[in-house]
Amino acid sequence: MAEVSLYRMEMYVVALLLTFTTLLYTFIQNRTDKPQNKFFISVNCIVLINIITSIITEYAKVQSLVSNKAFILRNIMEYLYFIIHAMLCPLFSMYVIHAVGKQQKLVWHRNILFGGLFFVTEIIAVSNPLTNWVYTFDADRTFHRNWGIYSIYAAAAFYYVYAGVVLMSSWDALTKKRRVSMLYFFLIVMFGVVIQMLNSQIRSELFSEALGLLGVMIAVENENDRIDIDTGFYNRKALLTDIKSHIVNRRKLTVLNIKITNPEIIKRATGTTNMDILSDILADYLKSVIPRYQIYNANPESFILTLVDRQTEKSMEIAQKISRRFTLPFQFNDAEILLNAVIIKADVPEELKNAEDVLSMADQSLPKNNKKNILIGDDLDYLLRRAAVEEAIGRGIAEHSFEVYYQPTYHIKGRLHGAEALIRLHDSVIGNVFPDEFIPIAEQMGTIDILDNFVFSEVCRFLLSGIPDAFHMDCINVNLSVMHCMQPNFIEQINQIASQFGINKRNINFEITESIAASDYGLLSAIVNVLKSEGYQFSMDDYGTGYSNMESIFSLDFDVVKIDKSILWNAEKSEVGRIVLENTVHMVRQMHRKILVEGVETKEQIDLLDTLGVDYLQGYFFSRPVPKEDFVAYISKAD
Ligand code: C2E
Ligand code: CA
Ligand code: CA
Repeated sequence: MAEVSLYRMEMYVVALLLTFTTLLYTFIQNRTDKPQNKFFISVNCIVLINIITSIITEYAKVQSLVSNKAFILRNIMEYLYFIIHAMLCPLFSMYVIHAVGKQQKLVWHRNILFGGLFFVTEIIAVSNPLTNWVYTFDADRTFHRNWGIYSIYAAAAFYYVYAGVVLMSSWDALTKKRRVSMLYFFLIVMFGVVIQMLNSQIRSELFSEALGLLGVMIAVENENDRIDIDTGFYNRKALLTDIKSHIVNRRKLTVLNIKITNPEIIKRATGTTNMDILSDILADYLKSVIPRYQIYNANPESFILTLVDRQTEKSMEIAQKISRRFTLPFQFNDAEILLNAVIIKADVPEELKNAEDVLSMADQSLPKNNKKNILIGDDLDYLLRRAAVEEAIGRGIAEHSFEVYYQPTYHIKGRLHGAEALIRLHDSVIGNVFPDEFIPIAEQMGTIDILDNFVFSEVCRFLLSGIPDAFHMDCINVNLSVMHCMQPNFIEQINQIASQFGINKRNINFEITESIAASDYGLLSAIVNVLKSEGYQFSMDDYGTGYSNMESIFSLDFDVVKIDKSILWNAEKSEVGRIVLENTVHMVRQMHRKILVEGVETKEQIDLLDTLGVDYLQGYFFSRPVPKEDFVAYISKAD
């Protein structure tokens, strides 16, 4: 009597274990909610069922010669095998279509071809008991293949090739890891099928499918590097690859960027600086709006939702719905937190051309004067402007189109005191750009040190010309960005330039903005002390605009406090404004610091400041900031 082939059995058991492992991990890791995941699970289930039917068939086959029951069982198993097997390749190609992001529009003729072929093969398989198209058993109960088997295999080959074509057409949208593992899958399955075709004793087909799927599970389905485990939201890296894939596949795409505008409330309400709490608070709500695999946490305060295909038609509705939700508090532990959000809606690639643009929108701060809750269409111009300014800064550095302007400062009694160096950008494409706009951008780009060092070098060159000395100027003021001061080698950079030109350090007065002084007082105080000990002077800029931390400010050893122009201008507008100016001046005087008031535009202002007892003045009343030649001409005329 024939025996069960242990050799085949081993193949089947190993395949069974592989498939089981793949399914187990897929469920353990919760990779079950995306359509892609569902197709992957279906394909694995089909392989699993096929393996089980094959194992039972092996046993039943041996018994079927002597037992009627075994023969019936074998019949059932073979029948099941072919019905299920005919589904494998169509489902696998659906999986590939989803995995590469091409699920958009299976147009109708493709649908018919795709679905129709599937339908026909299933009919062939299902009708076998009546037709014997696929297989028959002869009087000896020996199994015979019929033409139906070959048509099922031909259809499978079609789906297989189709999936390969889909894969190739999305090649650019795939990460390297995905490319390699998908290719591996195709090759190993082909290998297994060919071996089995050449020698039907070797049951390598199911085994190679199981092995290939395990590889796909590890490399394609595994999203550990794309995902935040706690919230299930995708990260920046995932955003970049997915948007790229949508663009390559020409899917309709609208992104919604939810920006939390009061993130500091988290710190206050929870007592931690852990901003991940924000995504925890929003996770349940956002997932109720849109499936979690369309939500990306671009940075702690910024969430991106991707709406694709038909969803894009409802993008405005969704934006409004989310915006309304933010008028109500969110729950965190026992606290209720009222978060404010602005939502930006943009079509890709029409309004934002690529994935990088989407990320930079997410990272960008909103326009200063923004009052809207939802930004669309022309509201997005600030992003274009920002990109244009970024490019202009790059060009400015490369083409040396930055220039230093000078604005004179005066002793209260009228004698020239010095000047403030102010940077200007004359761009060949977008024209003149003012520092209020480009300095913060240069800070974020990380090129502010280049600009500050350029200004400082120009000022050194000016000092070396001997002109400032000839006009008895005490010093020239140079603005420093705190981003620059924070750099570890900042002091060396400054000293290197100073010694390169061999200037007298006493002629330099560095200005640092007050609000920033308050934010990193320790570091700043150390830097100021070192540079002061070498001879440089220091001014506190924009005094009165930030959150003033009296103690830290006045224990910093500044030579001059520059009172912000808004304080002066408000003094003329109201009684309260006047009290603020008087008391500010009074207080700074008591701290024995020199006082400069900027923004002086009228004779009346000068008289007022004279009675209050300030030391220096700066403003349009004397001169606007002007190029060096004009500055020299101006002070020569006045001299
Ligand atoms: P700031 O340091 O407060 O500079 C004074 C600003 O007030 C200058 O604007 C100046 O043109 C303007 N101003 C002076 N007097 C008057 C007046 O009487 N009326 C009016 N309406 N405005 C007056 P500017 O040159 O546009 O510079 C803006 C800001 O950009 C500066 O504010 C400073 O924070 C920054 N900045 C300028 N140059 C540099 C630089 O080289 N490095 C760095 N880090 N920042 C710079
Ligand atoms: Ca300044
Ligand atoms: Ca100022």
